[in-house]
Amino acid sequence: MKTGYLLDMDGVIYRENHLIPGAADLVNAFVQTSTPFLFLTNNSAPTPGDLVVKLRHLGIPNLGPRHFYTAALNTADFLSETHAACTAYVIGDSGIAAALQERQIANDSIAPDYVVVGEGQIATEKILKGHELIEKGARLVEGRVEAVDVAGGRVRGVTVAGPGGARRIDTPRFVNAAGPFTKAVGRLLGVELPVFCERHCKVAFNDTRRAVPREAPMMIWTDPVRLPWTAEEREELGESDAIRHLLEELPAGVHGRPEGAGESPVVLGIWTYDIEPVEPEFPIVFDPASAEIVIRGLSRMIPALSGYAQRLPRSFVDGGYYTKTEENRFLACPLPVEGAYLLGGLSGYGLMSSNGAADLLADHIAGRALPSYARAFHLDRYQDPAYRSLLPTWGDSGQL
Ligand SMILES: Cc1cc2nc3c(=O)[nH]c(=O)nc-3n(C[C@H](O)[C@H](O)[C@H](O)COP(=O)(O)OP(=O)(O)OC[C@H]3O[C@@H](n4cnc5c(N)ncnc54)[C@H](O)[C@@H]3O)c2cc1C
Repeated sequence: MKTGYLLDMDGVIYRENHLIPGAADLVNAFVQTSTPFLFLTNNSAPTPGDLVVKLRHLGIPNLGPRHFYTAALNTADFLSETHAACTAYVIGDSGIAAALQERQIANDSIAPDYVVVGEGQIATEKILKGHELIEKGARLVEGRVEAVDVAGGRVRGVTVAGPGGARRIDTPRFVNAAGPFTKAVGRLLGVELPVFCERHCKVAFNDTRRAVPREAPMMIWTDPVRLPWTAEEREELGESDAIRHLLEELPAGVHGRPEGAGESPVVLGIWTYDIEPVEPEFPIVFDPASAEIVIRGLSRMIPALSGYAQRLPRSFVDGGYYTKTEENRFLACPLPVEGAYLLGGLSGYGLMSSNGAADLLADHIAGRALPSYARAFHLDRYQDPAYRSLLPTWGDSGQL
C-alpha cells in the first residue's frame, strides 16, 4: 500500500515565523524516503511560490510549488471544473488572483460570473463593488451545511448544499460555529442550544453640524440611557403600545466615533437599544427609527448632537446580530453528540475573544490538556446548580 501525507501548516509546521521543533526533520525524512506529501492551507493569500520562500526562510529548503495546495488553488479548480471559461471579480490578496489566472479564469469588473472573496487587506471600495456586481447577477459561491448525519450517537458526515447541488462529506468531526445560526445548526444535531440573537444596528450619519470633533476617539457610554423627548413627543409616544418603551430606560452601551479621514463628515453610532431576542434572517430588517434613536442616545454623551432632534441628518443603517448566551459568556466545548463541537455565543466578547475561543476549542478537539478556565466556557456549566443560581443576578455584562 502506498502511503502519503497531507499536512496542515499554521500551528503544525510553524507558528507565526518560528518552525515547530521536529518539523524540518519530518520534511527531510519525507524527501529522503521519497514519501509523497502535500501541504494544505486554508489561507488563500500566499501563492505556492510564496510558501516555498517562507519555508526556506524558516529552515526547510528544497521544497517546490507542487508541495502546496491552497484554498485559492482549490477555488480556482472548483470554478474551472464546474464552469469552464467563467470570469470572476476578485477581492483578496495575490494568491487568489494568481490561482485564477493560472486556471485561465479572467478578471472581470463589469459583468463577472462570480465574485471571489479571498483573504488579505480588503478595501471597502472593493467590497462595495463586489456587492454591486452580485446584485447585478454575479454569483457568490457558498456552501451551506444542511444536514448532519448522526448514527449511534456519533457524527458520521455532513451534507453541504452549494452551486453544484448538495454533497455529502464523510467526517467523524463537526464544529458548529454558525454565528447567528448556531441554534439552527444545533438542531441539525438534535441539540437545543442556549443561545439567542439580538439585532445590532450601526448607524453612519453625516455630521453636518460638526457636533463630534473629528479627532474624537471611540466614545462609550456605559450607563443606561433615557432618551431626551419634548413634552409633546412624550405624549405621542405614550399613546402607542408599540413605541411607549422608548420613554423608559434603555440599555447601556451606546457608542460611536468619527469615521473616515480628511474632510469626511461621517460619524458612526452603534447601540443595541432593542434587546428583544429575534430569529435571525437576512437581509436584516432594522427599526426604521434606528438612526433617530441611536443619535438621540448618543446625544446623552455628546450634547451637541441634540441639535439633530428637529431635523435628522442623512444616515445609513446596517449591522448584524449579536448571538449570546443568557450571561453573555461564549461556548467553546464538545456537544453531547460524539465528534460534534460548538464555538458560539461570541457576541458578548466579540472578535476580540475569537482567537482564544478557537484555541480552547482546538484543545478539546485534539484531546490536549485543558486550561483552568475551560469549564467557564463549557455547556456543562448550566448543569451546576451553584452556577445556575448566579444567572438571575448576573447583571450588566458590559456588552457594547
Ligand atoms: C454590527 C456589528 C459590529 C460588531 N463590531 C465588533 C467589534 O467592533 N469588535 C468585536 O470584537 N466584535 C464586534 N462584533 C461582534 C462580532 O462580529 C461577532 O462576535 C463575531 O463575528 C462572532 O463570530 P462567529 O464566528 O461566532 O460568527 P460569524 O462571524 O457570524 O460567523 C459564522 C459563519 O457561519 C456561517 N454559517 C452560518 N450557518 C451556516 C451553515 N448552515 N452552513 C455553513 N456556514 C454557515 C456564516 O455564513 C458565517 O460565515 C460586531 C457585530 C456586529 C453585528
